[in-house]
Amino acid sequence: MTETAQQKRVVVVGAGWAGLGATYHLAQQGYDVTLLEAGPYPGGLVAGWKTTEGRSVEGGIHGFWYPYSNIFSLVRELGLQPFTPFTRSAQYSPAGLEVESPIFQDEPQLPTPLGTFLYTRFKRLPLIDRLSALPLLYAIADFDNSDEAWRRYDKVTARELFKQFGVSARLYKDSFEPMLLVGLFAPGEQCSAAAALGMLYYFILAHQPNFDVVWCRGTVGETIFKPWVQQIEKAGGKVLINQRVNDVLLDEIGKTKGVVCGDEVFEADAVIFAVSVSGMKKIVSGSSTLKKYQQFRDLQNLGAIDVLATKLWCDRKINVPLPSNACFGFDSTTGWTFFDLNALQDEYKDEPGTVIEADFYHANQLLSMSDEEIVEKVQRDLAVCVPEFRDAKVIDSSIIRVSQGVTHFAPGSYQYLLSAKTNIHNLFMSGDWVITRHGSWSQEKAYVTGLEAANLVIKSFGIGNKANIIPVEPDEPHIQIARTVNQTVRGISESFLPKFWLP
Ligand SMILES: Cc1cc2nc3c(=O)[nH]c(=O)nc-3n(C[C@H](O)[C@H](O)[C@H](O)COP(=O)(O)OP(=O)(O)OC[C@H]3O[C@@H](n4cnc5c(N)ncnc54)[C@H](O)[C@@H]3O)c2cc1C
Repeated sequence: MTETAQQKRVVVVGAGWAGLGATYHLAQQGYDVTLLEAGPYPGGLVAGWKTTEGRSVEGGIHGFWYPYSNIFSLVRELGLQPFTPFTRSAQYSPAGLEVESPIFQDEPQLPTPLGTFLYTRFKRLPLIDRLSALPLLYAIADFDNSDEAWRRYDKVTARELFKQFGVSARLYKDSFEPMLLVGLFAPGEQCSAAAALGMLYYFILAHQPNFDVVWCRGTVGETIFKPWVQQIEKAGGKVLINQRVNDVLLDEIGKTKGVVCGDEVFEADAVIFAVSVSGMKKIVSGSSTLKKYQQFRDLQNLGAIDVLATKLWCDRKINVPLPSNACFGFDSTTGWTFFDLNALQDEYKDEPGTVIEADFYHANQLLSMSDEEIVEKVQRDLAVCVPEFRDAKVIDSSIIRVSQGVTHFAPGSYQYLLSAKTNIHNLFMSGDWVITRHGSWSQEKAYVTGLEAANLVIKSFGIGNKANIIPVEPDEPHIQIARTVNQTVRGISESFLPKFWLP
């Protein structure tokens, strides 16, 4: 008798983009799938909720960049229209406005990276500094997201890489470091050069429109996750909140037979983990079974980063020139962004005063400040960018501290990251820190790795159809040629040079 999907129980742990993605696809394929989430809401880092006063809050506002094809496709399939049009953005330093970005897809298309270079409106950065980025194009072509490329670049810091390639001090400080703080949540000396190249290529350099971004017109929780969870349940999936998984059960031949959640056991024929690095480290340290495997013990070598998400309600309308803004140079190792929610979110469209979201990345030193001190600091920093904030009165605020929330792609961390397949052959991994060759980052990567894990479950049981994962758009022809020439030269030199030097 052939087995059916309904007879296969899959437990997914963690209800962020990765876990919801895996659960939805497996439920659609008829699997008996249960998603266990430790928190009170699905959504993970992107969860949103209402305060007791009925205000919507979320742990930081989330952008959806032009190449997020899989998320855009999902949202279309769910019949949702949660997004704003593409928005323009600005960048500020303590000296004031530094950069304004256009909507790149509206400008005449040029071979990458010319469009990014020519259409970005730098207010102060001299041309000579901008030109000092050119030699970096070699590293961009050399880093092709392969395992070898990651191993070659991962042990170097991003700052060291930019220095080696002759990037000027000003370009690094005013442009690359802010991008690293916002994209990888850490300053250059704490970021892997491999992660920096992968992230910058995906978000900015691969194709001219890649830096274009849309936002949800409400919290992602309300506008995407709520209707998505309803669809998951309609397809037969179970989404259980307040369920913290603390161990995995293995049978006598080392296969997973379920997970432990407090006093309860959820039996399973396959398990997908979709939790953050910090969440996984906690599970491993409390798990007598996972600790037996070196690849899980090694996770203790990975780290995570603190972020702070704040929302301020002001007593008056303030003219914020562009809806999304990135800021640098205010604290030496912290980057921050601010968003005009009146312009982005329906709930605040008709609000009499301005509502601002300000999120701080690598916010270690800010987390221990009191709420009042944080509000004062946010208002002070905002006033440097938009002076009208100085006289405004903050009438309400929300402060969310996300301690050790986001993955730290530290130099040397690649060797400890896990792939979707683990040494426990029916236990799979997903999440924005899990190794994939897809090439995406952040929310899109998390969602893609969830689908990849679901596909491995489908492959292992031979039941159901695999999810169609949209690949990132291929490299432009001149980049493809540069990569091919480079690989050929590298191949020839490696064939006769001994492996004597450090990679
Ligand atoms: C302030 C901020 C701003 C950001 N901005 C952007 C942006 O603009 N664009 C973008 O694309 N990305 C952004 N990101 C990154 C993005 O949020 C993440 O890449 C993405 O949400 C990761 O999803 P995930 O599914 O991998 O993990 P997570 O969202 O971390 O989900 C993991 C889930 O696992 C649960 N869990 C943990 N331990 C257990 C356990 N033992 N048992 C059961 N459940 C458990 C957690 O509660 C959580 O719900 C931002 C992040 C932050 C914090």
